[in-house]
Amino acid sequence: MAHDWPAIVTRALEDKGLNDAGLLDIFTKIDRRDFLRDSYKDIAYDDIPLAIGRGQTISQYSLVAFMTHALEISDAHSVLEVGTGSGYQTAILACLARDVVTLERIKSLQNLARKLLTEVYALTNITYHHADSASVLDAHQTFDRIIVTAAATSVPQDLVNLLNVDGIMVLPCVESQTVQRLTKIKKSAKNVHLESLFRVKFVPMRQGLVQ
Ligand code: SAH
Repeated sequence: MAHDWPAIVTRALEDKGLNDAGLLDIFTKIDRRDFLRDSYKDIAYDDIPLAIGRGQTISQYSLVAFMTHALEISDAHSVLEVGTGSGYQTAILACLARDVVTLERIKSLQNLARKLLTEVYALTNITYHHADSASVLDAHQTFDRIIVTAAATSVPQDLVNLLNVDGIMVLPCVESQTVQRLTKIKKSAKNVHLESLFRVKFVPMRQGLVQ
């Protein structure tokens, strides 16, 4: 296995045209190996989706980078993430944004991610909720950016409602039985603009909490 994560990730992202210096710097510092179980650590630097347990997956890192780039995050932004999973995307968001609220419906995944992000990465601007995207409905908090890392069957209107004006949301949306498309939503004072990007493959969004 190749060992030099900073060199590997920098080359992979630059090859895809993702050469923003700030973004690259963060990707070199968050080692994908830390977010995988022992049996997958050897292939952690391959740019492919990998299992993280409980039937869930961590995305290709180039896709994580693309989605992060599409969110146009600044350090003034509050971000909502639906689907903490391994916490890999969460860590990257936390390095860019003012603060991050992350929801995960599977408690055991949430516990592992929280432990890693607090104890190893010492990230202090993240709030973790064992919750699904439907239960966030009652929240009074709104967000500048929203990212969803599980595929919704349609654009979740309740999440669009939580976006501030000038807010951006990036999510995979189910288009047909076999096709999901990454979708970027921009909310202005007047309307909500939807842009369909490219085909992706994410685990499905589900509601209800499990341990
Ligand atoms: N961003 C994660 C990807 C995890 S896969 C990473 O970098 O590892 C998607 C995650 O979304 C899974 O952990 C799944 O349990 C969670 N999920 C699915 N539907 C959800 C919902 N409605 N609310 C909260 N989490 C959800």
